[in-house]
Amino acid sequence: MRELIDCHIHTERCGHATGSAEEYVAAAAAKGLSAIVMADHLPLPDDLDPDHHLSMRLDEVDSYLAEVAAARAAHPDVEVITAVEADYLPDRLGWTRELLRDVRRRPDGPTVVLGSVHFLGDWPFDDPARLADWDERDVGAVYNEYFEIWCDAARSGLFDVMTHPDLVKKFGHRPKFKMKKLYAKAAQAAAEAEVVIEVSTAGLRKPVGEMYPSLELLTAFREAGVEATVGSDAHAPEEVGYEIEAAYELLRKAGYLVVTLPMSRREQRIYGL
Ligand code: ZN
Ligand code: FE
Ligand code: FE
Ligand code: ZN
Repeated sequence: MRELIDCHIHTERCGHATGSAEEYVAAAAAKGLSAIVMADHLPLPDDLDPDHHLSMRLDEVDSYLAEVAAARAAHPDVEVITAVEADYLPDRLGWTRELLRDVRRRPDGPTVVLGSVHFLGDWPFDDPARLADWDERDVGAVYNEYFEIWCDAARSGLFDVMTHPDLVKKFGHRPKFKMKKLYAKAAQAAAEAEVVIEVSTAGLRKPVGEMYPSLELLTAFREAGVEATVGSDAHAPEEVGYEIEAAYELLRKAGYLVVTLPMSRREQRIYGL
């Protein structure tokens, strides 16, 4: 039997998910997953998330780490990696770097950092509460800006894994132009930075109705030699392991032979597809 992994899981701390780490790890055990990566949202600067519906609060970090460690101990049948999902904020790089340094050295601190682009300037473009902002924007310009920032994020050195690579399509907005050049740039950036990219099944649950990234972008990553992992981006315990077999299928279609479990900055394990 193929081993299933899920490398992107949240908890209720972020303010837009339900369930404790214990419930997510128990769900993974019940589904027979081999390994998971717990990756709740690292705190954002207060001005970007004033009511904390996007990320955990700074004073919740220690309890998050302790809760994941306890769930790991309670479920020796599942390998549980501790991570955080951190936002790439171009004008807060020092702030983010310092926070990650602080969080990593804490007891049971994260060994992996997932990097995400959810903000263009101060606009969280994938937040359903800010969907109306799309109406005032040129979709092509948003795509160009998104991929430029995504490439900068990949090269920033802050992140081990780059999540949901074409998240910008979440609500189904599509530019008029062909994506080939943007995809080539993304693949080159990921390859040069030696980050792992994520195939996320979360898009299947969103208006766009397809995984991130598209087969075309995933193929560009594979051709550039970029390693790939998989994640459900679960925000409820029942979403753990969601459509992971479909993600493996997409990886095979793109020419991948293996899927990567990120364990730490320097250590990965691979599983056959
Ligand atoms: Zn989230
Ligand atoms: Fe995300
Ligand atoms: Fe996430
Ligand atoms: Zn995410």
